[in-house]
Parts: sequence; C-alpha cells; structure tokens
Amino acid sequence: MLLLVLLFVFISRRMSALRGGGAGGILGRFGQSGARLYDAERPATTFADVAGIDEVKAELLEVVDFLKEPAKYERLGGTVPKGVLLIGAPGTGKTLLARAVAGEAGVPFFSISASEFIEAIVGVGASRVRDLFNKARAAAPAIIFIDEMDAVGRSRSAALRMGSNDEQEQTLNQILTEMDGFDPHEGVIVLAATNRADVLDPALLRPGRFDRRIQVHSPDRRGRLAILLIHTRNIPLDSSVDLNEIAAQSAGMVGADLRNLANEAALSAARRGASLVTLTDFTIALEKVELGSERKLTLTALDRERIAYHESGHALLGLLLPGADPVSRVSIIPRGQSLGATTQTPVDDRFNYGEDYLRGRITGALGGRAAEQLIYGVVSTGAEADLRTVTSIAREMVVRWGMSPVVGALNYSEDGAAMVFGTQRPYSDATAQLIDAEVKRISDECLAQAVELLHDNRSRLDGLAHALLEHDTLTADEILRAADLPQPVAVTAGA
Ligand code: ADP
Ligand code: MG
Ligand code: ZN
Repeated sequence: MLLLVLLFVFISRRMSALRGGGAGGILGRFGQSGARLYDAERPATTFADVAGIDEVKAELLEVVDFLKEPAKYERLGGTVPKGVLLIGAPGTGKTLLARAVAGEAGVPFFSISASEFIEAIVGVGASRVRDLFNKARAAAPAIIFIDEMDAVGRSRSAALRMGSNDEQEQTLNQILTEMDGFDPHEGVIVLAATNRADVLDPALLRPGRFDRRIQVHSPDRRGRLAILLIHTRNIPLDSSVDLNEIAAQSAGMVGADLRNLANEAALSAARRGASLVTLTDFTIALEKVELGSERKLTLTALDRERIAYHESGHALLGLLLPGADPVSRVSIIPRGQSLGATTQTPVDDRFNYGEDYLRGRITGALGGRAAEQLIYGVVSTGAEADLRTVTSIAREMVVRWGMSPVVGALNYSEDGAAMVFGTQRPYSDATAQLIDAEVKRISDECLAQAVELLHDNRSRLDGLAHALLEHDTLTADEILRAADLPQPVAVTAGA
C-alpha cells in the first residue's frame, strides 16, 4: 500500500512539473530571464582599472577606437574584427578587460555567460542568442560579451563522442549564424572569453567570426606590482609595506588573487583595530591566500616534532641544492589540508627549466619524507601531496621533455582530450613500461640524494627543527640563522 501511495505521489509530482515546463512555463520563464539577462549595462570600468597586461590593452584599443567612431573606419574601408576571443587562465582579468573596452568606448555592454545558455530548457539557448544579438544591434554601437565560451563552443566532434548535446550544438550554431549575419559596420563587436582555447570548435575560429584571438597571460613581477598598486589605491598603507617586495613574493598569482590579497591584508588590519595596513598584515594575507586559513588542531608533541622535521627537510634541501628557489618561509601551523608548509619563491618568474632545476625540485619535495626516514626510520602519511608533485615532475621529464636517455628525445605526452575520450595512448605497452621504470628511477635517485644530504647536514636539520618547534614560523633570515648557513650574496634585481 505504502509503495503504491508513494508511486502515486511521485507520478503526480512529475505531471505537474511537466505542465509547469510546458508552453506557458517556457514563455513565462523565458520572458522573465530575457529581460533580466539582456539589460545593457554601461560599465564605469576603464583601462585604468586594468594593469599588468599592457600588450592586451594595446590590441583592444583598436576595438575601442572603432566603437567610438565607426564612421572613420567605414570611410577608410578598413576591416574591423567582428569577434575577439580573450584566452587566459581564470582570474587574469578577461571579464574586467571586456567591461573596460565598453567603458572606454562608452557603449552599452550586453553580457551573458555561455553556461547560462545550456542550463536553459531545450530550445531556449538558440532563441536567447537571437534575442541577445537583436537587442545589441538595436543599441549599436555596442559590445556583446560571451563569458565561458567553451561551455557551448566545445569542439563538436568531442561532444559527439561524449554523447551529443543538442542544446549546445543549436546554441553554437545560432551564435555562428548571428556572427555571419551581421556587418561589422553595424557597430556591434562580440568579445568572448575562455580559459580553454584548445577545446574550442574550429568553426568558431574561422575568418569572419572570432578571427582575432588575444592571449591574456598571468602577470609577471612588474605586472603584479602594477595590479597591487591598483588594488591598494584605497587602502592606507604603513611605510613598512614595500609593494615591490610583495609582488616578488606572489609569483604565480593572477589579478584576482592579488585583489584578494590586498583585501585580506586590509581585513587583517581591521581586525587588529589598526588604522594602517602593515607588512605583517600582508604576510598574514599571503599565507592565507596561498595556503588557506589557519586550522585549530591539537597535535601531540610527537606529531609536532615530526612535522617540524618534515618541513625542515624541505627547507634545508631548498637551501643546500644549487639553483633551487630561495626558501622564504617555513611554518608548522596547520592550514587547510596541510600540517605545515615551506614556501620557496623564485627570484623571478621562470619560463624555461633545466634538468638540474627539475631534479632539485623533486629532491626538495622528497626532503620531508627523507627527514622522517632519517630521524624516525619510518615514514608517515604526511607526504602525500609531496609525492604527487614528485610523480608529476618526474613523469613530465620522461614523457614530455625527453630527459630520460632510455626513453629518448621524444614527446609522448597525451593531450587532455585523448585521456578523457579513452583513445589509444600514443605509445606501445613496451614504452609504457620503460616510462614507468624511468619515472621510478628518477624518484629513487632523488630520494637517495635527499637522504644523503640531510644525513651529512644532520646538525643543521636539528637546528631548524628546534627553531620551528619554538617559533612555529620562520622567515628567510631566521631559517639561515637556525640552520647555521651564511646569508646569500645579495642578487641585484634586474641583473
Ligand atoms: P577572468 O574573467 O579572467 O576570470 P576577472 O576579470 O573576473 O578574471 O578578474 C576578477 C577580478 O580580479 C577583477 O574584477 C579585478 O578586480 C581583478 N583583476 C584581475 N586581473 C586584473 C588586472 N590585470 N588588473 C587589475 N585587476 C585585475
Ligand atoms: Mg571571467
Ligand atoms: Zn612535505
């Protein structure tokens, strides 16, 4: 009886859901969201709000110029791109740039995220696209911004293999039709953003569509400084704060991270009730942004000691290995997933790595495990993330960068698509075994080197671990003092 009743309830729910999604439902919901989604904005953002990516700004200036004075371009018969695709990692400022283009040109900005198209009910994606383009055309000159383009623009052959998605295909086709259908002189320019240009459907990249593609790179040190300057415009800074130094310490961070960093520093000062943001606030913020918030954990004395030796192992190897990135901080305060952390900051952004450097990275990553092995004779689960780093670097050395004499100077790396779709890997079973053996050899050699170095420098290791147990966190200078190592000769910037 109960089952029957439940079944009945289930069926009647389904029925009403279907009715709600019927003709009336679509019109109602579509009409509503249409109005909300496509209201044009007039962003106040300008290029002054964007920093560190000057070459991108220069390319987009032309687009701004065209939107301001379409007539000038018409007269000269020059061609203006219909579509510009911004490619870059999340948080590098693509959305910000698109808004800045609209702001600079003073034109309406119609934006939508492509993932919203495909969330919609079947058949609505395409009509939303049509609606969006019609509104923009009526308001020309205008900008249409499609965020997360890869959500609809994925290569159709790949999508087919995953089981085709009609909605995505129809939406994509409609975007292509609209872009083919309008004349650039109508004054509408389509900007789109993606972080995965490699998966985009080639049809999107054909001439007359997104034929202009702009890479938005992660900022280098100077870029990071410029971005920090923007995001600290309204933050009262203490004279102890050297943004140049913070830019140096934030290698790998993108614009969104840096905004977050400035914000966290301001919050930290506010919590202290201070009126100026100090260097300490920035140091706390850096740790938080990089490693997550502190975690309250009660550790036994033995656990703390083990963690101290583990981190000291990383840090000491970072100091002893020639060419390794300088160690700027060690801590045994638990944060996020990790129980301790050793931070190494590259002298400057590197774009090309030598084999020695990579081996040094592996050896350093194994330093925690090596120290535990040396001191306690056993290892713990604390090295899981380290081993992941080791495996991925060693593997890339073998399959990607031809650094294994046995495997040879070949590139066997598989692209993402091949992995996802389970196609054949591009090498034989025999090669697969060779690769595995070589990855293991590299890791074994590096571990042996790590253990040997730590063994030979046992008193330095002890000194570091004890200092850590006492102070929880050590800065670059304190690390050198605790390990009884000389201060490095100053490296002059720009050299
Ligand atoms: P994306 O769209 O590439 O993921 P966003 O444009 O959404 O990145 O960036 C998020 C925020 O990070 C921006 O609103 C801005 O505050 C900050 N930001 C990112 N890049 C920059 C940059 N180059 N200059 C200044 N601020 C930036
Ligand atoms: Mg974005
Ligand atoms: Zn570790």
